[in-house]
Amino acid sequence: MKDKTAVINKAFNHFDIGGKKVHTVNSPEYRASTILFESCEDMLDAGQGKYTGIYYGTNRLPNQRELEESINLLENASITRIFPSGISAIRHTLLAFLKPGDHILVWDNVYGPTKTFCKNFLAKLNIETTFVPPEKSSDIKKYIRKNTKLIFIESPGSITFEVSDIQKTIAAAESKKIITVMDNTWATPIFFKPLDHGIDISVESVTKYISGHCDVLMGSVSLNEKYGDFFDKYCSMAGITNSGHDCITALKGLKTLELRLKEHEKNAFFLASWLEKQEIIDQVLYPPLKSHPNHDLWKKYFKGGSGLFGIIFKDKITQEKITTFINRLKLFGIGFSWGGYKSLISAGKISREESEKLNGKTVIRISAGLEDRNDLKKDLETGLKSII
Ligand SMILES: *Cc1c(COP(=O)(O)O)cnc(C)c1O
Repeated sequence: MKDKTAVINKAFNHFDIGGKKVHTVNSPEYRASTILFESCEDMLDAGQGKYTGIYYGTNRLPNQRELEESINLLENASITRIFPSGISAIRHTLLAFLKPGDHILVWDNVYGPTKTFCKNFLAKLNIETTFVPPEKSSDIKKYIRKNTKLIFIESPGSITFEVSDIQKTIAAAESKKIITVMDNTWATPIFFKPLDHGIDISVESVTKYISGHCDVLMGSVSLNEKYGDFFDKYCSMAGITNSGHDCITALKGLKTLELRLKEHEKNAFFLASWLEKQEIIDQVLYPPLKSHPNHDLWKKYFKGGSGLFGIIFKDKITQEKITTFINRLKLFGIGFSWGGYKSLISAGKISREESEKLNGKTVIRISAGLEDRNDLKKDLETGLKSII
């Protein structure tokens, strides 16, 4: 069965009225702390860890389980657990598997808050991070130490969109029994399934394309058999829960993910190809473009490109002009995050620990939404004309 058929047909339905199931297309929302037992025996079983049903709200209510199982299906994973945000999914994954004295490798182009967590928090726990410049990802072996426990990859990297050679990383990690984690938010499991390629753990910011409507914060972690049970126990202990309402909202997004993602890709490709030809633009950072330095690697690994890309203006375009350009746009909301149906734009300076390439440059990041692409192009055209 194809992904989209499986996801659309996955629904939990538990109501019985008059001896007949109440079959709604979408599952009902559960709100509960207490779950009532059928009998005292069931409660005593629950106390001894022998009860097979759900015994309490923190034990993951049906809406949460339905969402987890649906994402699990797309990731071809052993288990999936969800978290109240993408960054919380990343932090818990690192905390669950690391201990004082460990060393980790993290791509230097990862999502900013992931870096901050490693530098400011893991360092305090005596867990050392080495940031690997994305262009050195095929030399990963050189960075591995005796105590290297985990490698954290984001490909393409947030903001600058370098694609790394995943096979080389996995080969190096496997030979040293190092856990590999990938932040797969850009591609989603529709365009890349990390576990199918041998990565141990796939993390998604569900906030972005999976939920897709800018109205929910959520993250997911999907693990292979080797690490699934351990993480399941960690999550039970950590008591992480998500509201039924948020789970239903994310599930609705998930059902149309493939359809939306393909349209985001078309819009992004159209805009990126056009922007690339504009005189005042120095670079367009979008792996599906032939001009992208890692275009071949992208083609090798990914089934498609999503709707997020970056642009860098030529040096003659001052910060003031960049501000004028962004303020002039009518169809691109100015804001963080991405992956929703509305087009967004943001700007920021690249900050690198280990690599001079692109360090300090301003990248404008465009999240191509689902509007008509010619309308979006006209809006960008008006913006560009105002600063030439
Ligand atoms: C947004 C983002 C996250 C964090 O997701 P939140 O749900 O906003 O916390 C993690 N990784 C990447 C690549 C992101 O873009």
